[in-house]
Amino acid sequence: MQPIFDDRRLVPILEKVRAGERLDADDGLLLYRSPDILAVGWMANLVRERKHGNVTWFNVNRHINPTDVCVASCRLCAFGKKARDPKAYTWSLEEVWQRAGEGWSEAVTEFHIVGGLHPELTLGWYCEMLRGLKQRFPDVHLKAFTMVEIAYLAQRAKISIRETLEQLRAAGVDSLPGGGAEIFSERVRRVICDHKIDGAQWLEVARTAHRLGLKSNCTMLYGHIETEEDRVDHLLKLRALQDDTGGFQTFIPLAFHPANTALHHLPVTTGFDDIRSIAVARLLLDNIDHIKAYWIMMTPAVAQIAQRFGADDLDGTVVEEKIYHDAGATTSQSLRRTELLRLIREAGREPLERDTLYRPVQRTETAFTVLV
Ligand code: SF4
Repeated sequence: MQPIFDDRRLVPILEKVRAGERLDADDGLLLYRSPDILAVGWMANLVRERKHGNVTWFNVNRHINPTDVCVASCRLCAFGKKARDPKAYTWSLEEVWQRAGEGWSEAVTEFHIVGGLHPELTLGWYCEMLRGLKQRFPDVHLKAFTMVEIAYLAQRAKISIRETLEQLRAAGVDSLPGGGAEIFSERVRRVICDHKIDGAQWLEVARTAHRLGLKSNCTMLYGHIETEEDRVDHLLKLRALQDDTGGFQTFIPLAFHPANTALHHLPVTTGFDDIRSIAVARLLLDNIDHIKAYWIMMTPAVAQIAQRFGADDLDGTVVEEKIYHDAGATTSQSLRRTELLRLIREAGREPLERDTLYRPVQRTETAFTVLV
């Protein structure tokens, strides 16, 4: 079928996409700037269906945020709080283990664990937390800690990133979630997150994890003060690392939520930008298998449509989400498995439950089997 593109400048990109050729930075810029979102989405859908057919992946997971106390003060953040803040919280180990088991009866296959950079919790404390979770929930995959948290734990323990990752893995970490990447541009990071590791360090932690055999996801925070050039640069840096290690499973574009942050004067992202972020990522990141429409960030309604614009994954049930809800997210904190199935089927896609490593899962309401 020969599609009719309103924006004829996109036709050479279509030819590359059809031939399976890699797109370059100029192509990426044009994809971000073209008003012809249907053409951009049509090409992204072509790649998405080539990789995944009609399947949309989802999982049954639970988020765990053990503390929101953080030594950093990123302007992009509404979650992190100083220890003296009366609204700050830090769960005890017993609370973490207890809350992990709360929620619906559906057996979760994954705990997604991230939190603030706490000034007192040690690497040993986190390792004990992980061992306790593994003891109580031996079949649940532990996807834990952003590259930023790992760098901080290493710095506090005065050991290398590699040693830190080895200790965390020995205690139970199965993979890494990939947050904290924000935008790699140093100019932008100086404004939105100047207390964090820089982009090169983020990539180096990911590289070290991948070399140890730990898979991770990767992310990009968009919709604040970054330019289209910054977005393309970010995606191409992720693509270059993936060429080297093959360790990224999934890319997740994260829409900036300004409410309750120091950047609250900025507007929220539009549906147009959210959909385009999915589509451009699908087209530029030819070596990353999965593009996730994270419904918490972009609403279930937009995530549903994104399945026709390049996304092949909707994330999971989540159960309890704090980070984006502190920043004004108006979405629910959880979706039942049956609601995810409906979102996928209504988009004409075929839902396939996965574990964290994208192995199909067979389940009853209270138990699951990973098909290997
Ligand atoms: S974004 Fe992360 S590192 Fe920065 S203040 Fe928030 S919790 Fe802390």
